Amino acid sequence: MTLGIAVLGATGSVGSSVMRVVREHPDRLRVVAMAAYGTNPDKLLREVDALRPQLVGVMDAAAARELAARVPAGVEVVAGEEGLRAVATHPDARRVVAAMVGAAGLRPAWAAVEAGKDLALANKECLVVAGRLLTELAAARGVALLPVDSEHAALHQALRSGRSQEVARLVLTASGGPFWQRDAATFASITPAEALAHPTWKMGAKITVDSATMMNKGLELIEASHLFAMPPERVEVVVHPQSLVHSLVEYCDGSWLAQLSVNDMVFPVQYALSWPERWDNNFPRLAPAELGRLDFHAVDGEKFPTVDLARRALAAGDSAPAVLNGANEVAVEAFLAGRASFPEIAGTVARVLDGHAAQRVGSLDDALAWDDWGRRRAGEALGGS
Ligand code: MG
Repeated sequence: MTLGIAVLGATGSVGSSVMRVVREHPDRLRVVAMAAYGTNPDKLLREVDALRPQLVGVMDAAAARELAARVPAGVEVVAGEEGLRAVATHPDARRVVAAMVGAAGLRPAWAAVEAGKDLALANKECLVVAGRLLTELAAARGVALLPVDSEHAALHQALRSGRSQEVARLVLTASGGPFWQRDAATFASITPAEALAHPTWKMGAKITVDSATMMNKGLELIEASHLFAMPPERVEVVVHPQSLVHSLVEYCDGSWLAQLSVNDMVFPVQYALSWPERWDNNFPRLAPAELGRLDFHAVDGEKFPTVDLARRALAAGDSAPAVLNGANEVAVEAFLAGRASFPEIAGTVARVLDGHAAQRVGSLDDALAWDDWGRRRAGEALGGS
């Protein structure tokens, strides 16, 4: 039986891995609806031509009109927030891949869960900005939140080896980014080009800078805590430069379980789509005898304060992770535009969090309002604009 899926963010970096998995399993997966920001219309059109979904959504109305004139007969094109919602809630989609970057991906992902779809979740903001609300909604609707991020997919798999009360701690692996061995005294001179040169994973600009500051791992700590109902103090981070062990679980008896694979997003994507099964494929395989060394190092919290900032925000309560997320996005944008130094990214987030008294969040709008508050405060901290 084929699984109907909807893909939000079809032309991005995760979306491309989703398409490789779909092409690998034409008998098992069928893309019934897809959406993209519309920044790469030719790429989207190629995917539409190949996959023939029933529905295609793009944000921009003019881009939608242009696309509608070019898609094959029988493909409907929709635009704007309502269009994305229609893609996310398509009646023939049983599982929805949420791979849209940024807060714009949150509403359609939320709509999918509300409509009772299992959510294959690659969008970080969903759980960082509205983690408690989204996990509560998923539980109420009886739908699964299936992580696509490589670390959480690893934990998801390793956690199948025991019961939740038998878990001692979760350990997220981090590549360390390009700077984990660099002298902290030179951090102020780091350029955007240096920060964008990631050693092991090829990703979009925002997440690559987040890897360089290790805020990416802070955001993942928040996600892991929500996804697996684990208190922040029992989620840890370790630097693992080879990026082959994707995360580890320690059980109460002292046993560790880890998940390894080639560092290619097709593996976590496929597991999120095949779960609770595993499917055969022709993707590249690890050869254990050729692995050589696997190194693990503690995170230097002085050099990389972001992981502790995230843990602190999570412990403070609902609104603080949303504020952290908003502030970080603005600080990363400022760094990429040459308006902030590399250390000012974490420094700005810390200042914004220091000025925030965490509150319980009652709705998605509320959560997004706190994200926005974090953005504005970060903008002010960075001197307007
Ligand atoms: Mg990751």
